[in-house]
Amino acid sequence: MADSAFRSLTETDAADGRPFSVCVYCGSSDATRADYLRLADETGAALAARRWRMVYGGGGVGLMGRAARAARAAGGEVLGIMPRFLARREIVLQEVPTRMVDTMHERKRIMFDESDAFLVLPGGIGTLEEAVEMLSWRRLELHLKPIIFLAEDDFWEPFFHLMQHTIQARLTPPHFLDVLDSAKSVAEALDAIDAKVVRT
Ligand code: AMP
Repeated sequence: MADSAFRSLTETDAADGRPFSVCVYCGSSDATRADYLRLADETGAALAARRWRMVYGGGGVGLMGRAARAARAAGGEVLGIMPRFLARREIVLQEVPTRMVDTMHERKRIMFDESDAFLVLPGGIGTLEEAVEMLSWRRLELHLKPIIFLAEDDFWEPFFHLMQHTIQARLTPPHFLDVLDSAKSVAEALDAIDAKVVRT
């Protein structure tokens, strides 16, 4: 094993020889708050600085485009997964390798397979859908990949309240709270991934 936790997650450590990869789920809207867009810039740059590959839905819109551009600008590796029917709407970035697929399900499956952990930034229904699917797969013990909800403010609090609500109603076991990881800064989020990822 490499001599530090940071180095242990570089390309040599990935199970199938691919780079250690973090899937970023985030909003596709450019109309959101400037600090959310800046958080996406910071996330892309920080992934590149750690030499972790960024996997995302592809495209150049909203936080998604901001994070991908920032990662590439910092010399990082990025993989986008884009359904053909969305390519025009979500604007495929020339500077980012993008795998074209036919369906949303295919997109999500490849994003899952190509990633070792998930980072969830502020987003809308698409972001929620993707993050909740990964949580539900964790609940079914289909994977052990960390899922970190990242926001500098209380953006994710209503979602955590909803999860608490399902726990209080005894529809979700209390121990599932252990899987609901959150971070208030990019550095904290990446450190949490480093600490929680299961090394094989
Ligand atoms: P949003 O958070 O709504 O801005 O969406 C973020 C991203 O999630 C966009 O690229 C959407 O195309 C994508 N998305 C929305 N629904 C799905 C889905 N069911 N499967 C995969 N990606 C989705």
